[in-house]
Amino acid sequence: MRDVFEIRAQDAGGRVGDLHVPRADVTVETPALLPVVNPNVITVDPARFDEFGAEILITNSYIIKRDDDLAARAREEGLHDLLGFDGAIMTDSGSFQLSEYGEIDTDTEEILRFQHDIGSDIGTPVDIPTPPDVDRERAADELRTTQERLELAETVDVGDMLVNAPVQGSTYPDLREEAGAHAYATDLDVFPVGAAVPMMNDYRYDDVARAVAGAKRGLGADAPVHLFGAGHPMMFALAVALGCDLFDSAAYALYARDDRYLTVHGTEQLADLHHFPCACPICTEHTPEEVRRMPDAAREELLAEHNLHVSFTELRRVKQAVRDGDLLELVEARAHAHPRTLDGYRALLDHAAQYEASDPASKDAFFYASAESARRPEVLRHRERLARLSPEGHVLLSEGPRHDGYDECWRVKAPFGPYPAALSEVYPLTAETPSNMDREGYEAAAKGVARLAGEHPDADFTLAHESWPADALDYVPPRVETLDLGEDRLTGPDGDET
Ligand SMILES: [Zn+2]
Repeated sequence: MRDVFEIRAQDAGGRVGDLHVPRADVTVETPALLPVVNPNVITVDPARFDEFGAEILITNSYIIKRDDDLAARAREEGLHDLLGFDGAIMTDSGSFQLSEYGEIDTDTEEILRFQHDIGSDIGTPVDIPTPPDVDRERAADELRTTQERLELAETVDVGDMLVNAPVQGSTYPDLREEAGAHAYATDLDVFPVGAAVPMMNDYRYDDVARAVAGAKRGLGADAPVHLFGAGHPMMFALAVALGCDLFDSAAYALYARDDRYLTVHGTEQLADLHHFPCACPICTEHTPEEVRRMPDAAREELLAEHNLHVSFTELRRVKQAVRDGDLLELVEARAHAHPRTLDGYRALLDHAAQYEASDPASKDAFFYASAESARRPEVLRHRERLARLSPEGHVLLSEGPRHDGYDECWRVKAPFGPYPAALSEVYPLTAETPSNMDREGYEAAAKGVARLAGEHPDADFTLAHESWPADALDYVPPRVETLDLGEDRLTGPDGDET
């Protein structure tokens, strides 16, 4: 059990937790967003970060170390005074520079000591950020090097500074899993899923989802996970549902520099905006036209402030959703605003069985909002539960009326399938579903019927359905008698009317 991280609430793979950062004597509520601060280019003064809700930031120790003047000041004053920030400070090691420029002039031992000396609260070794789509041999080779660096990092005395254990493995989910298991077995503290930036820059949220799901399979449930480089609010809900606890945003400043305006649905160009679709102080006090007319530095700062506001607002919304148990409803809403987040959500649903394990058994409500809802962990869980129920004799599974001629009368509801009437008021069978159910919902229900019939060969079944589509009925095995309530009268097993 890792005592730096405590989970307070969970929903799907998402959690609200407390990350204890001993060196800063600070407890950070997760999911947390770490604004990236380049000490040479301050866009928003870190002393103001608490206005937005930032409890922790990240800066780059390698940039500081390479600048003699900055390095001397950092050693003398300490990072917190240098940046004017009294929350927790995480430092990166130069790995990103390594991936961009191919080499750096430091190593894990030296950079960890330097991070410790300048007062970092969470340091990072020099791992190898393997890009996506490289051949497997290279991904595996570089992963071995990263693993050696993590083992070396364990031996460096850094006092009570926490240390990141990056999880690499490129676009190979099994390597990510192996990397996660290895990192978790070290005594390091925080687990960044590395080298996701090139995927996120191309909006490959499905590959990001597969990488995170792979890493999570290797890591223990109590491991705090950082999605390194994830700074766009459109994917926070998805990333939290996948099990990420920390994010860092360089986007707030980089996008502002290019007159780009972040929203939870994507990115807008300032030039295209007639209205600000946001209630933050910047957007309520200015019009896009006013901001466009401002001098460069002032415009950049205001846009960066908006970008921070919209990011932290989304993070608060995500945290509330985890506590309310409707995180997947939020993910689904975000997924349907952008095809790339939809790809990411579908990739998460491909791992529904994995995420079912951490999903609470009971929540307030299940809203069936689209065909994707038919693949949620709760639907899988209900199907698994059918194996443990005990139908006996000839069982009517009815979407409509009951009939006394059967030994048992069970209800049927898409997307879950059959269930005994006694479970009607039990989550998730209390789900709100549309009157016009889609094909995927009926197919999921039919798979439930098939599961029940398959698990209980001694019982007989009749399915009385409200005109399910033929595609869905194809999933119902022939030994289940079917009856279309839209066309046929419901009769007893022997055809009797009463
Ligand atoms: Zn705004």
